This record gives sequence, structure tokens and C-alpha cells, in this order.
Amino acid sequence: MGEPKTVYLVGAGPGDPDLITVRGAQLCQTCDVLVYDSLVPQELVSSSPAAEKIYVGKTDGGHTMSQEEITDLLVDLATRPDGPRRIVRLKGGDPYVFGRGGEEALACQRAGVPFEVVPGVTAGVAAPAYAGVPVTHRMISRGVIFFTGHLAKGNVEHLPWQQLAQSGFTLVSYMGVKTVERITEQLMAGGLDPATPAMMVQEGTTPGQRSVTGTVETLAELAKKAEIRPPAVTVIGKVVSLAADLGPQNPRPLAGKTVVLLKAEESSYDELAPLRRAGTRVVEVSIVRCVAGAAQRDARAMVAALGPDDVVLFRSAAAARFFGQAWLAVNPGPQPRLVAGSRTVRDTLRGFDFDVSFTEEHTAGAVDILRHAGVDPGAPIWLPRSASAGDRTVRVLRDQGYDPRPVPLYDTLPVPVPNDVRSLLSTGRTDAVLFLSGSCVEAAVAAAPRLADLEPNRILFGAVGPLTAAVAEGLGIHCEVIPDRPRVGDLVDALLTRMSEPTQRQIRP
Ligand code: SAH
Repeated sequence: MGEPKTVYLVGAGPGDPDLITVRGAQLCQTCDVLVYDSLVPQELVSSSPAAEKIYVGKTDGGHTMSQEEITDLLVDLATRPDGPRRIVRLKGGDPYVFGRGGEEALACQRAGVPFEVVPGVTAGVAAPAYAGVPVTHRMISRGVIFFTGHLAKGNVEHLPWQQLAQSGFTLVSYMGVKTVERITEQLMAGGLDPATPAMMVQEGTTPGQRSVTGTVETLAELAKKAEIRPPAVTVIGKVVSLAADLGPQNPRPLAGKTVVLLKAEESSYDELAPLRRAGTRVVEVSIVRCVAGAAQRDARAMVAALGPDDVVLFRSAAAARFFGQAWLAVNPGPQPRLVAGSRTVRDTLRGFDFDVSFTEEHTAGAVDILRHAGVDPGAPIWLPRSASAGDRTVRVLRDQGYDPRPVPLYDTLPVPVPNDVRSLLSTGRTDAVLFLSGSCVEAAVAAAPRLADLEPNRILFGAVGPLTAAVAEGLGIHCEVIPDRPRVGDLVDALLTRMSEPTQRQIRP
């Protein structure tokens, strides 16, 4: 029988993906299904190997699944005869704090579905902490009250404003961006000193964190001017004044920026670390998948035909991977000369124990790579690559006196894009979009046609090399960031330089 089917109600933490609990992270790594909504850090979703990932948050068109639909979905997943065993319901912050996690747990309990709750770091504590505010402090505040600022019709009367105002405790409201004016008015009417320090923290613990600080009297106006948007918490009380000393001392230069990287599945890039260190939120999206398909026969035929004097030029990690697999399947004699066009490709080939020629110096083109590898014109050059690759490289090599032999090794297919990523691309709520290949550009435009219509001065587009940039241009997207050498590390450097320029556009409205 094995493990019984279980629903895990997991708190994802307030936004910084590292703030999930160890237990929560383990469950994300081992679940069969991940059910999540919009406040959950994207990194936790993309790094989960779950076979099924179901987004139940707000979509592009503003549609939201009702709470009932969500509980039905959880119970249905858990009771389907051949359904998944481990169902993780990932919720922002703590699942039982203003997250309706209690309702989901009750629904499981009623349906006889085993469930486990994994608490999380709640935004009402974490966002103030990152902004330099301890919610309690000896001699200053002996308690803290969390309350909802979601004041649906008539709800204002339901909160004990006078008691809140006179408690002497720190007050923290969730879901209270639209209602901050009413909240502060009610509190003052209830007797709270208008000069009490008050603060709003938006997108706490994420690279997008920003805050406004004032008093109960001035906060609503300040928040309006600063265009504070959800998700944000409001903190009211003397503890807010501690932010002057405990607030972020060393803001990361690119905090608040988001960069979307469109890449092929099964690829990961350590080269992104400098962007993350600078405070940027990097959303990695696998937008294309490389499949061997019909081309697998061509791959084996090619491998079998290769002699030790042949030269094979690789410019994509997928080509290197499929070549390596075909090589292992056919297992011919001594290896031909393998030339790698990038460090990633070299590492992939070395993973198959091949000897590889690779030099750091070359620039963009195939000819340049071959010259640096000491391959003279006249030689036959095998080019394992995507079936959709254009004929430019073949033409250029022929013009230079080489004998190019393209071999379509794999097909590049678009991967379905989750709604939240689609919405990120369609609405321009990102500062930069990076393309790692022409097929990534095509898949992105297919998934989010509005990408090409976004105001060019609001989003910075980057391409790993001139070929990718040319595909983008053909689809109406102008890439301003193109590194001298077509490498992810160089693209990241170029983007960092560009984004750090003092004249940097103000991206988000
Ligand atoms: N269960 C969540 C709260 C869900 S209600 C938790 O424990 O944190 C959603 C509200 O949480 C938002 O309207 C906002 O008030 C608050 N919130 C969530 N994430 C936030 C963040 N990163 N920064 C500030 N407030 C946040």
C-alpha cells in the first residue's frame, strides 16, 4: 500500500525563497503535485520536480479560483484512485495566518484525507523585520496584534477599533493597502495618538521590498504618493521608530529588479549568481524542450560515420547531450575531434568523458571558434544542432572554405508556460527579459504575444548572441543587451552594467 495519500499544507514563507522551512523545502522537492498561488516565491515552484504544478491564484484576466474550487481540487487529487500520493498545497507566509489554510485543512478532515500542516514565516513578522522593525521590543511594545485590513462592506464596524487603539500593542494589518485610510482614521477616532509612528512594507523580503514611514496621521497620504501596492503590511506602533537604526544599511544595488530568463529545459546556469547577489529577482523559465524524436536515427548514423579525423562543432548543450547519448548507444571506435563553442557545451561533453577543444578567446561566429581551435578551411565540419536551426552558419562556413555538414539532432518544442509567468511577460511587470536562443524567443512570443508590444523603454531585452537577437528583431523585439561573446556569463555582465547605469530607466509604473 505504501505511504497514504496526504495533503501537506506548507507555508512558503513571506517571499524570499530561502525563508521556507527545511521541512517545507523537503516536501516541495519530493511531492507529486504542487498546488500554489501568486504570493508563493516563483523559485520554489520552478525548482520543484513535481510532475504536476497547479496554479490557483489570480490569472492574467483577473479570474480567481474560488476557495471552494480549491478545496474540491485538493480533495479530488487526494481521493482519485490512481492520483498522486504527495500533494503539497503551498501557500504564502504561514498557511494558517489569513491564508484560509484552516478551511483547506477542515475540508481534508471532513473528506477523510490525511493532512499535515507545515508552518511558515508569516509576512506580518518578516516584512517589518527586513525593514528594521521588531514587532515587539522590551519597554516599547509588550505585544503585537495581527488583524485583517480587508474591510468588505460594513466590516469596518466589526473590528474593535477602540480596543486596538488603546491596547498599547504593535498593530499589524494584512491585506490593508486599499483600506489604509479607513484603518488609520478609525484608529485615531478610537483614541490612538496621531503622531504614533507607522509604516507600510510592500513585497517584504523580496528584491522588490520597499516601504514608507510616517505617522498614523500621514501614512495613508504617503502610501498613496509612493503608490504602495499589495502585497503590503501596515505596522503601527512605537517600534516603527527602531527602523531608523535597524533598517537596511546596505541596500543591494539592484534590489527591486526582476529579470526573466527564458531557457531550455534541463539547463541551469551558475552564471546568474552575480545578478542575484546584486538583489535582482531572477525568474528562470524553461520555455523550450529539446526532444530527440525522429532525429535520433540521424544522430546514430552520424556517430557511426565519424572517423578520428572528422571535426564536430557544438554550439548548444542540447546538441552535446544528444550526441553523447547517441555515442553511448552506438559505441563506435576512437572519438573524432570535438570543438565546443561555449563553456557549458564543453562541460556537457566532458560529462561523457570526451576530449574537447575549447578556447576562451573566440567571439561569436563558428569560423572564429574553428580558427581558435586550429581547424583549417577545407576540413569537413559536422554540425549537430536543432532541426529548426537556420542556414546562416552553413553558408558562412562554406564561404570560408570549410565543408559544413549539418545534422538535425533534435527538435525544439515549446513548453506550456504557467499562467503566472505568462502574466509577468504580458504585463511588463519585469525589468528585463533575456533570451538564450532563437527558439526561446519564438516560444515566448507564442505564449505571450503582447511581449512584442510592450513599450521598449520599459523593458530591457537581452539576447545571448547576434543570431538570437536577429530572431527577436524579426518578431518585433529589439534586444539592446547583446554581449561581445555569446555566453550566458557575458550576457549577465552586460546586463548588470546596463542596469547599474545611473540613467537607468524607472521601469515599474
Ligand atoms: N498567509 C500569509 C498571508 C496571506 S494574506 C502570511 O502568513 O503571510 C495576504 C496578505 O499578506 C497580503 O495582502 C499582505 O498584507 C501580506 N503579505 C504577504 N506577503 C507579503 C510580503 N512579502 N510583504 C508584505 N506583505 C505581505
